[in-house]
Amino acid sequence: MGELVAAGLDLVVSRRCGGCDAQGPGLCQSCRAALFGPICRREDQAPRLVPAEGSASLPVWAGAWYSGPVRQAITAWKRLGQRELDHDMCHAVRRVASAIGPTLDQVMTKIGQDELWVTPIPSSRRNQWRRPGPLTWLLAQAVAAALVRSGIGASALQLLRRRAGSKDQAGQTLRGRMIGRDGTTLVRGNPAAPVLLVDDVLTTGATLLDAERALAGAGTATLGAIVLAVTPKGHGHGRRFQAGPATMG
Ligand SMILES: [Zn+2]
Repeated sequence: MGELVAAGLDLVVSRRCGGCDAQGPGLCQSCRAALFGPICRREDQAPRLVPAEGSASLPVWAGAWYSGPVRQAITAWKRLGQRELDHDMCHAVRRVASAIGPTLDQVMTKIGQDELWVTPIPSSRRNQWRRPGPLTWLLAQAVAAALVRSGIGASALQLLRRRAGSKDQAGQTLRGRMIGRDGTTLVRGNPAAPVLLVDDVLTTGATLLDAERALAGAGTATLGAIVLAVTPKGHGHGRRFQAGPATMG
């Protein structure tokens, strides 16, 4: 019986690395190295996150560029439903969360808060193929667990939802995404703690900005965001990325 189940599982587990053509399943060592790169703030790559004069920018932390094998792996995870990549994707955001734990702790002490809500950006339906819940919810739970281990009072909560009828961002032109996002994010209930957002890929920053505004409208502060990977500036969605840095730094 066990063998039958295992044989059935083989049908949905890719025999190739999610990021290249090496033997799989999961990610090979080299693709894993690209996903687990140096952890940096990367909000400067997102045109919509450039702050107005005199205001502070929304910090966005990541450990990978959305290019090459990382882009292929995230696409395989999101679009092809390769669940064997769950572990590496969750580990990628966990290591970012562990690295920024002390920074978040300082900010929370400064604003007199001891609780942090880790909130996923809602995924579109087509990215939930064969999934019990949105992929970003998996990432948010991994982030919250890592922050708790760092001594932060973090909980994962699905605070945001998309306004009915709002367009899927994937497949739109960069300009369409720049102007199309505002006002599509809604907040459930009344958030009582500051929020850390979690998303898969940072491109224009329009989605994060919309979430931050919606949360501010509901009376809560967004301390920043963690993403799996960042699209290098000037390489918006829909353009194939040919060359670029293999790791963050
Ligand atoms: Zn690989």
